[in-house]
Amino acid sequence: MKYRYEQLYLGGEWRNSASGQSLTVVSPIDETPIGVATLAAPSDVDSAVSAARAALHLPEWAALSTGERADLLDRFADELEKNSTERAVLTTVQNGMPIGVSNWAEGDGVVGLLRYYTALVRTVPMEERRPRVDGMGTTVVRRERVGVVAAIVPWNFPQILTMFKLAPALAAGCTVVIKPSPETTLDAFELAAAADRAGLPPGVLNIVTGGPDIGEYLVAHPGVDKVCFTGSTASGRKISEVCGRLLRPVTLELGGKSAAIVLDDADLPTLVQGLATSSLLNNGQTCFLSTRILAPQARHDEVVEAVAALAAGLTVGDPLDPDTHVGPVVSQRQRERIEAYIQLGKDSGAVLAAGGGRPDRDEGWFVQPTVFGGVSKDARIAREEIFGPVLTVIPYRDVNDAVSIANDSEYGLGGTIWTSDVAKGLDIARRVESGTVGVNFYNLDYGAPFGGIKASGLGRELGPEGLAAFFNLKSIFLAE
Ligand code: NAD
Repeated sequence: MKYRYEQLYLGGEWRNSASGQSLTVVSPIDETPIGVATLAAPSDVDSAVSAARAALHLPEWAALSTGERADLLDRFADELEKNSTERAVLTTVQNGMPIGVSNWAEGDGVVGLLRYYTALVRTVPMEERRPRVDGMGTTVVRRERVGVVAAIVPWNFPQILTMFKLAPALAAGCTVVIKPSPETTLDAFELAAAADRAGLPPGVLNIVTGGPDIGEYLVAHPGVDKVCFTGSTASGRKISEVCGRLLRPVTLELGGKSAAIVLDDADLPTLVQGLATSSLLNNGQTCFLSTRILAPQARHDEVVEAVAALAAGLTVGDPLDPDTHVGPVVSQRQRERIEAYIQLGKDSGAVLAAGGGRPDRDEGWFVQPTVFGGVSKDARIAREEIFGPVLTVIPYRDVNDAVSIANDSEYGLGGTIWTSDVAKGLDIARRVESGTVGVNFYNLDYGAPFGGIKASGLGRELGPEGLAAFFNLKSIFLAE
């Protein structure tokens, strides 16, 4: 097997796991095993958390000035940059992400995001003196690192979603225990290797592997100060229950079912070009995708035709080929789930306008990009997160109806507005109940908060707000 990671990274050392077991990662491209990684036991989580706690007090980490810490993290970024291409390939072979997306998000994006936070933290004062409002002295307001952070990540964008948590946490001076997803465990070891080469002090970054059981153990561990989770809403609810009981701060980036509102003045070529990423990025396995396309009744058929032509024209195939638009979905289980939704769509009376089956390939967990037209806003395929390349086109009467359909969702993570009038688009974007919305395109901005409302999550990542989440604030009152 090409990739073998037989030891865990705990307390700055590569160590055998206590479980003596390993997990195998199978590539969705050809359904063959591509790597093995050692599997952590609960006692390895104990070791990781205690190493992370100890590192909070190590002079070579705790005594660094903000600038020195940022310099060290810049060296970590340099190390990650040296194998960006290999790390991008590693994501693609694990989860089927088209290589162009992997290079951009998982290769270069990881490095760029870390550098964004090292630059930002240099500008943040760790202590401020404020004159008291009552005029009777001064208050010193301090930013103090939260402590040990547990970071639990899913398989769809494994490296960049890890960095969403790791970069601001480390920039703030926290220490981190990462639990990757079993489907994409391998890349976490490359992250650890880069941290090791960069000279991060022992215990600042630790990796524990495993499934939900190890995740649950980590979330509830007495030595953890904060939990950062990206994954499904169902798992997020369980984690927030535990954190609620423990009064442990938690950020949750969960699922979505975002709406693309196509206005009657929308330019169809712009729409079609934009939807390829804003609605189908990463084989439809991206949390913020606008998978409900709301079309004015008068333009419904035209929109369905254009979106169906887009879906039918995408190249489905080997995600390592730079010309491929759509690769396989991550696992056989995920394909079965998606296919069950496609069947629901067919049974619902909606019109199948593109796809609906598997492409003509002998191996790999592929699903054809699929488009349903004339979908009722109440159909399950219009309400539930499918997490695959399946789009629904829903007709609406007028703009108020479109906004009300968009907001009639348990989720609130992304969304897009398509119009020739950007001012009108901005106006409607303000009315959409969601953490993020794009006008005529959608792309996250590292400098701006990202996250959801309702069942899409709690808290925000990215931007200065994402860094602030890793500080506790302390006020010290002085009488003079
Ligand atoms: P998942 O919830 O099954 O697993 C995510 C991670 O959590 C994995 O590492 C898993 O092992 C771990 N885990 C599962 N249950 C746990 C528990 N009770 N306690 C602790 N850890 C636990 O999600 P998934 O199937 O890997 O990912 C797909 C989901 O993630 C989709 O619903 C998608 O929308 C969501 N997602 C959201 C965002 C976002 O930023 N909002 C980004 C990517 C994916």
